[in-house]
Amino acid sequence: MAIATVNPADGRTVEVFDPLDEAAVEHRLARAQSAFESWRLTTFAHRAELMHRAAELLDRANDEIARTMTLEMGKPLAQARAEAAKCAKAMRWYADRAEALLADEHPAAEDVADSGGASAFVRYRPLGAVLAVMPWNFPFWQVVRFAAPALMAGNVGLLKHASNVPRTALALEELFARAGFPQGCFQTLLIGSSTVEAVIRDERVAAVTLTGSEGAGRSVAAVAGDEIKKTVLELGGSDPFLVLPSADVAAAAERAVTARVQNNGQSCIAAKRFVVHTDVYEEFLSAFTARMRALTVGDPMAEGTEVGPLATEQGRTDLEELVADAVGHGASVECGGGRPDDPALGGGWYYLPTVLTGVTPRMRIHREEAFGPVATVYRVADLDEAIAVANDSPFGLSSNVWTTDDADRERCVRDLRAGGVFFNGMTASHPAFPFGGVKRSGYGRELSGHGIREFCNVTTVWSGS
Ligand code: NAP
Repeated sequence: MAIATVNPADGRTVEVFDPLDEAAVEHRLARAQSAFESWRLTTFAHRAELMHRAAELLDRANDEIARTMTLEMGKPLAQARAEAAKCAKAMRWYADRAEALLADEHPAAEDVADSGGASAFVRYRPLGAVLAVMPWNFPFWQVVRFAAPALMAGNVGLLKHASNVPRTALALEELFARAGFPQGCFQTLLIGSSTVEAVIRDERVAAVTLTGSEGAGRSVAAVAGDEIKKTVLELGGSDPFLVLPSADVAAAAERAVTARVQNNGQSCIAAKRFVVHTDVYEEFLSAFTARMRALTVGDPMAEGTEVGPLATEQGRTDLEELVADAVGHGASVECGGGRPDDPALGGGWYYLPTVLTGVTPRMRIHREEAFGPVATVYRVADLDEAIAVANDSPFGLSSNVWTTDDADRERCVRDLRAGGVFFNGMTASHPAFPFGGVKRSGYGRELSGHGIREFCNVTTVWSGS
């Protein structure tokens, strides 16, 4: 895959980049190693000052950075602006809290005595250079949520971004450099995915974090496993959205639309499978379908656009095949189901917001992730069946439940196999809450204290006297 900026709104190539050659990669690895040796000795206060400066610069460049993201991957501009603002917030969150999150831990005195020691504590030390292999869908946020905690912990970052967002990747490197982070602390590697293995195997790389598809996760984790290097994997999702009889159905339908089509439907934590109790099924389906049909699909740079194009032509082809397979096996199309017929959108990779019903386990879409604005709606008889359908997925990233019944809530928290359960709202990431999944959605956690400790050497310090 070429490293290039291609506008998904019209399919035109804007700029093509040469990948780094072997010598250039070597130069950056050497620079990362030398940067780590001094960066790891800096104080939290110093790191925080630079991180605050990066947040400030990012706020100032919000519109420019948002436009770069929209140009490269097609998300509506308002959502790109919100993404950049959220990144600045996460930078400040870690700048202000990293020291406390990584403070020494002191075991109970009786345990220290039991070990025969005079004193003992646990210290979180940095690991070294962490390679981040990142996707295009939230091209700033995915990187910042790795980079802010990693740098605050004293690690240095190497970014291999998705090949279709090179300008965003370079803007990230420039942002950290302009904020005053020493050379080598955060570097973008413009490389294809075939070069990733060599970088992981390099002894100067300590660990790897990957956000992306299951296939990429499997390849990267296999190489890292072979090298005995720590990995965090944030992979796909097909999150359920349960609507139970006690729910405010109109509010649920409204939020369901946002949960499905945010980021043009290309979010790992988008609700993708809507599992609705039979008592409220008709009411929900009619409100949800009407709203999905009414969405404004168009140029992502235009104010007022709610759904832009898919990021890549291949992404749209994959989605079309998933829908064709479902329809071929008997699914009903409640709305959408194809490309818009507006000639002004002809050159872009648009796909209409789509609602499918009558989905069965024979259909690929029942088990695979629909990475675009396509929703499946299931009718279930009771909570047992709702939970069974929700869990009948290889993925387990997050889940959403609409109910006001306390017993239903407890059942869902106990039984839904996912890294999150969000009630009467929709799954969203926030710096304070751990983010990650189970099953094929990956392992490890980002954000919160859990995220910053993933790439630390958890060191026991024990003294006999
Ligand atoms: P992708 O094709 O897996 O790409 C992600 C990154 O991995 C890119 O940088 C890509 O580089 C690289 N890559 C791909 N194959 C690789 C391989 N064999 N070895 C090493 N690197 C490889 O995923 P995507 O299409 O960009 O993103 C969509 C997926 O990401 C969806 O499944 C989505 O759910 C998931 N996602 C998960 C989360 C989460 O937090 N759980 C968040 C966002 C997205 P190239 O671009 O050069 O191929």
